[in-house]
Amino acid sequence: MRIKQTQKQELAPLIEIPKPLHQLTDLEIQRKACIGKIMTYTLTSLTNTFVKKGFQWLLPIALSQSTDPLWPDPGASIEKRIEVDIYGKPVRTTASMIIHKLVAASTAYPKLFILSPNIRIEKAERAHTGKHIYEFTQLDFEARDATSKDIFALVEDAISLLVEGLKRDMQDELTMLCRCDSLKIPKAPFKIYDRVELEAKYGSDWEAGIAQDICEPVWVTNIPREFYDFEDFKTGKWDNYDLFLPQFGEVLSGAKREYEYKKILTKIECDQVKKENYALVLNMAKEGKLKPTAGAGIGMERLVGWIAGVKHIAECQPFPRVPGNVNEL
Ligand code: AMP
Ligand code: MG
Repeated sequence: MRIKQTQKQELAPLIEIPKPLHQLTDLEIQRKACIGKIMTYTLTSLTNTFVKKGFQWLLPIALSQSTDPLWPDPGASIEKRIEVDIYGKPVRTTASMIIHKLVAASTAYPKLFILSPNIRIEKAERAHTGKHIYEFTQLDFEARDATSKDIFALVEDAISLLVEGLKRDMQDELTMLCRCDSLKIPKAPFKIYDRVELEAKYGSDWEAGIAQDICEPVWVTNIPREFYDFEDFKTGKWDNYDLFLPQFGEVLSGAKREYEYKKILTKIECDQVKKENYALVLNMAKEGKLKPTAGAGIGMERLVGWIAGVKHIAECQPFPRVPGNVNEL
């Protein structure tokens, strides 16, 4: 499998690394400005939808003792985890706010979202995937007592409204980006695939296979990964999901969450994740204070990258964060 992947990388043309702002030509600046306007429109549309549906808008945090372990996750490829000491205690930079979401949604904020900056020092070899950057922003949301189906309906509505609005209000920008005709308003409900059936059809590279074959966004469920996603111990099925966009790939990951102490403990131990980093959620679960929730995170650069039809999602960043590339700004 390893050899096959290397061969594929050698054959595929390398995606160009987006340049920093001060190196852009006049035409490239115009293109960057269009993508910037689409980002503003997308943020406005999605946050409006969430606020209208009764979600509280929380501000993000950057340093915390507990953050996403990003393990085990078939998609993760982390070169380095950042840990620093402040006030004599070790803190990590936010990999995602999943743990904060679980606690917030179980207490004062039953429906919440955050535009959350995530730092993930991806391996430098991911520079040319076009889908990975080492700082990005998730529209991260969680709702108490929600089911996967509730989340599907919410996201389908938010994305359809967004694309409808873009096609109405951003014609000049979409024309400049050659997306005026090819960007279609998605038809809800989106199809749902089980990861097992996709593996049977496409093999281990099912993510690339499904992204190429679809013309509409689709859900993929039942993906084994981190302890906080809900797993039915009897059937071995995971009640989680990714949203795949046509000709692009994964743009959202989410799940119904675990909230029972024994299950969380068993999974943390089995994953060999450090228990002490998750003491607070474990205690809340033990005391019955962790509530059933469901949610997801949408990668904003990926979503806007798909809308704008970019080759590399760092084109959606004013200050590109391409793995292996550190610019002055
Ligand atoms: P995850 O829960 O790890 O799948 O992250 C949630 C979403 O964040 C993904 O579906 C992507 O849209 C986005 N995302 C994750 N990692 C990256 C990355 N390295 N660069 C850009 N976006 C990312
Ligand atoms: Mg994911």
